[in-house]
Amino acid sequence: MSKISKKVCMLGPFAVGKTSLVRRFVESIFSDKYHTTIGVKISKRVVNLHDMEILNMIWDVEGTDDFTSLKPSHLRGAAGILLVVDGTRPKSVEGAKELKLMIDEHLGKVPLLLLVNKCDLRDEWKIQGGQFDNFIDDDNVIHTSAKTGENVESAFTRLNLKMMDAK
Ligand code: GDP
Repeated sequence: MSKISKKVCMLGPFAVGKTSLVRRFVESIFSDKYHTTIGVKISKRVVNLHDMEILNMIWDVEGTDDFTSLKPSHLRGAAGILLVVDGTRPKSVEGAKELKLMIDEHLGKVPLLLLVNKCDLRDEWKIQGGQFDNFIDDDNVIHTSAKTGENVESAFTRLNLKMMDAK
């Protein structure tokens, strides 16, 4: 069994659910209480793929709505990106577009998935298919819920498969 480690960055506007997705994935818990991430928090979890043990070092980077707190050092060395938006807040997509430009500038082509989070809130859902044209391919978009856990494991598995294919 070979072991490697990979830096994964969670990026996205304020309050879209980045910290909640990491807690769901790493600790299998969800909390309705809101805690703002200050700076960066790094969490770890091993993902097993075929004969590989991939230690994911997950950088949860503070999201503000103008991204002034995002530094090149946060992105440096990232092998994969989970860009998160809130499916009940279309404005969060605009923020993600801005972030995508910053990612392109600093990392170039890097494995990336767009997570449209809070898919448990079906009555408030405001994001339609095709909304991400010219920005992210449809097959790199996944609807997730940190609250119910829907698609959280599969999102990380897909990102890890992409990171393995990239090398
Ligand atoms: P961050 O600022 O992007 O890290 O966002 P947080 O993870 O702190 O979440 C912001 C708020 O959204 C919190 O009140 C969470 O409980 C809530 N939240 C996060 N993910 C979900 C989800 O999948 N469904 C629902 N209903 N609420 C969520």
